[in-house]
Amino acid sequence: MRCVCVCVVVLVALGVRVNSFKFKELMDYVDKHQEEYVQTLRDWVSIESDSSDVTKRAELQRMMGVVEEKLRMMKGNVDVMDVGTQRLADGSIIPLPKVVTAEFGDDVNKHTVCVYGHVDIQPARREDGWATDPYNLTEIKGNLYGRGASDNKGPVLAWIHAVEAYKALDIELPVNVKFLIEGMEETGSNGLDALVEAQKDKFFSDVDYIIISDCIWKSTRPALTYGTRGNCYFSAQVEGPKQDLHSGVDGGAVIEPMTDLIGILDTLISASGQILIPGVADAVTNFTEEERKLYEQVGFNLETYKSTIGVDRLMYDNKVDLLAHLWRFPTVSIHGIEGAFSSPGTKTVIPAKVTAKFSIRQVPNMEPAVVEKQVTDHLHAVFERRKSPNKLKVNMIIGAKPWIADPKHALYEAGKRAVKRVFHVEPEMIREGGTIPIARTFQDVTEKYIIMLPIGGFDDGLHSQNEKISRYNYIEGTKLFITYLQEVSLIKEN
Ligand SMILES: [Zn+2]
Repeated sequence: MRCVCVCVVVLVALGVRVNSFKFKELMDYVDKHQEEYVQTLRDWVSIESDSSDVTKRAELQRMMGVVEEKLRMMKGNVDVMDVGTQRLADGSIIPLPKVVTAEFGDDVNKHTVCVYGHVDIQPARREDGWATDPYNLTEIKGNLYGRGASDNKGPVLAWIHAVEAYKALDIELPVNVKFLIEGMEETGSNGLDALVEAQKDKFFSDVDYIIISDCIWKSTRPALTYGTRGNCYFSAQVEGPKQDLHSGVDGGAVIEPMTDLIGILDTLISASGQILIPGVADAVTNFTEEERKLYEQVGFNLETYKSTIGVDRLMYDNKVDLLAHLWRFPTVSIHGIEGAFSSPGTKTVIPAKVTAKFSIRQVPNMEPAVVEKQVTDHLHAVFERRKSPNKLKVNMIIGAKPWIADPKHALYEAGKRAVKRVFHVEPEMIREGGTIPIARTFQDVTEKYIIMLPIGGFDDGLHSQNEKISRYNYIEGTKLFITYLQEVSLIKEN
């Protein structure tokens, strides 16, 4: 008898859960409306909301207006927040695009999630090598090509459609949902840090969890992202003669700034990838056996990766070490030299002043302020040894910290359940080699727990030509978000 009773109780408990979440109804709704979803994405992609180009600012403002209108039509509690102004290189001041927020539901008995996304884009021109018009979403073999399709308009719309599906079917949202959509992400989220700070006890006060879907899978399998690297970006300037010289006349007479600069840059990283700046790698956390196991499960294929980027040999010849160096070890990248002769031809100029740009990706527990001192001290020490009459100036321009979450946190467990339900596979637990600075800001300022829940494919080509999102990822991603809201509602403790 007792066993029967227990079984009944369990069944009732399960029954309540299954019945209250109208999974099939919601999934069917998404399937039935997918053409509309694609059309809305087409409308959004047609707006050239390039945040890096001020001549496109009106388009960006229009894009924010479209987002606002869409959320208002869904009867959300919508607000537009001013994030101030931006000073341009010519000294003029223009307003930044306003941040759009919306609130769906304010039931104190439910969890509240905040979905962050952005609707500005990287520049794109057909001449850059696009096979289709980047602002006319074009479907080819199940892929929807267009700038912003994957980064980040598609995922933002998938979130909006997820909420819209609940509302259209008159199904109560399992959690309260807030949106925070910005328009300056691609140029560094100008004004957003201050807004998050100012809204800490207002907009964010009742938020339990923050969700970011501004990243991609690592293979064809769905993934949950639990870390991103930070970035310290430096400039190193060597200044010599008062003016540019010519090697035919002056060559051999001076210690050339470029020679000094190349000399000191060569002391940053070895050919085998070892960082040579004393102390920089000391703070890096140990690579644990547990992490190694997670990395082994990632379906990342070295051969595919090699052929995609077009190289014969990588720095590491096995998957685990390669992923570790992409995700959880720092690296130095040299990006460019300002003032160097870079045009075609054979000019024999000796530049008088050259500025190198390089960056060091940050991982737990590196601290940008500490790295800044280590790099500055190191470069000055090696420069000193050159006994050059030239002058060296080192500056850290960006100091973004890394972000890391516990992949076993309830928010991730909810993600695993949602992925399993929609895609019928276990998600891969991955990290990002790149930097999403806002994640760390959210964590530090709001002290809320964060998850990155990507729906973009590993080959979406964010920031490059022929960016796309597949129809499959876009539509099934919408279903994932619908299901994720339900799974989050089942989290017991905050
Ligand atoms: Zn993005």
